[in-house]
Amino acid sequence: MYKKTDKQFTFETDILSKGIYINDPATNPEAPPIYMTSAFNVEDLDDLQARYDAHGFCYNRNRNPNRNALIELMTYAENGEASIACSSGMAAISTVVFSAVKQGDHIVSDMTLYGETIDIFTKVLSQYGVEVTFVDFTDLEQIKAAIQSNTKLLYTETVSNPMITVVDLAAVAHIAHKHNAILVVDNTFMTCALCRPIDFGADIVVNSLTKFANGHSDSVCGSATGRAELIKNAHNLQVLLGTQADPFSSWLVQRGIRTIELRVPKQSTNASALAHALAKSPYVLKVNHPSLEDHPQHELAKKQFKGFGGMLSIELPDNREKMNKFMRALSFAHYAMTLGGYRTTLAYPVMSSHYDVPREERLKIGITDGLLRISCGIENTDDLVNDFLNALEQAYK
Ligand SMILES: *Cc1c(COP(=O)(O)O)cnc(C)c1O
Repeated sequence: MYKKTDKQFTFETDILSKGIYINDPATNPEAPPIYMTSAFNVEDLDDLQARYDAHGFCYNRNRNPNRNALIELMTYAENGEASIACSSGMAAISTVVFSAVKQGDHIVSDMTLYGETIDIFTKVLSQYGVEVTFVDFTDLEQIKAAIQSNTKLLYTETVSNPMITVVDLAAVAHIAHKHNAILVVDNTFMTCALCRPIDFGADIVVNSLTKFANGHSDSVCGSATGRAELIKNAHNLQVLLGTQADPFSSWLVQRGIRTIELRVPKQSTNASALAHALAKSPYVLKVNHPSLEDHPQHELAKKQFKGFGGMLSIELPDNREKMNKFMRALSFAHYAMTLGGYRTTLAYPVMSSHYDVPREERLKIGITDGLLRISCGIENTDDLVNDFLNALEQAYK
């Protein structure tokens, strides 16, 4: 209804109106209504058949206008052919992976993934006869060496948690396609505003829309976007598993995404400013952010991303009492078990994402007892930097 033209504009402009197709001439609302309904009325059997044929609305688990709106928006935003919208990021990841592999298949996975994704691979897929090999995806030789004749899927994230390393997506896609495997990339940390993995050859991109995409920390949702035939398989499985996004979350998240071009680039510049300021602090042992010239993939990040992203991590001296003092001394940056919201938040990987990982193993990937992960919000840059510098001074001086 809102579409006045089919003309293409820039991402900044088109992200405001994609996926709004509510057809209600009687009221013609400026914002889309929420379709809180489990089913849709059918006139007669011909109408029912017509709805089947046109992928129309019958039952909420199959289709809902708000979910469809989010699907259209994500397909545009990630530059794919089709999408599914799911009840969480984990719902999107599990639906996509389960739909793409079967017993006897092999997956080559990045070793530093979101914790629950690793659990899906090691604790769930292993029970269904799918084998997974974990390697360091910043080392292409390790990926090549791990490929087997039954490798069907390569899995990575645009930026890893919590060490903030960057994977060369085009090179990994090339390896996958040479061996007739598909590449699945989790783009949660960068979002479509900074990187579109499909443009680098990814076959499916998954997103926890809970994080930067929605940006308001008020909803749990996920999506997968990619080639039409792969997404069709995922959708067919989703209808059976019931991993669909509900109408209200779909509505909230499409609303959040409308302002992604105002939020995520700001979060990204805030993170770069904070990273550079903390790198100079005598109290911070190490800063991990791709904007820093000494980051191992700084040049790659410059080429692959439109900004360096809102996530960074810092290593403080391993002293629980002083870390507590530092956290309490922050005025507005605060601890929260999420990321990507409009306010700056902290997380402690040792007691969250990597709580179950044995100490020696996490030390090997650099997750020391002093590591804090920071998700930057949209605060004034000077306020943000000063909040950290003041709190460090109070705790460690
Ligand atoms: C949070 C997160 C997920 C899982 O998303 P949920 O919406 O919490 O299910 C997956 N991948 C990454 C990188 C995440 O940060």
